[in-house]
Amino acid sequence: MSPVKILILGILFYLLFKLVFGKKLSFKKRNPVDKPANQPLQDVLVEDPVCHTFVPKGQALPLLLEGEKYYFCSDECRKKFIKNKGA
Ligand SMILES: [Zn+2]
Repeated sequence: MSPVKILILGILFYLLFKLVFGKKLSFKKRNPVDKPANQPLQDVLVEDPVCHTFVPKGQALPLLLEGEKYYFCSDECRKKFIKNKGA
């Protein structure tokens, strides 16, 4: 192996290392304190009644049925739920 190849390999490893660990470190630095008091409601986890997966409220698909609100991880689950309910 030529010294140039070893150098390139070293740089690649360095970049990979930075990519994997650099993000985590900067993430930690950006959040030194606990969650802010005015945490958006979207971060609340809601349970999908079909597959029982917990989804962030902001990403979940809502459904209002018989006065109750349900949240789903996907349209597929929402359709399944509606089918099971016979609505
Ligand atoms: Zn689901």
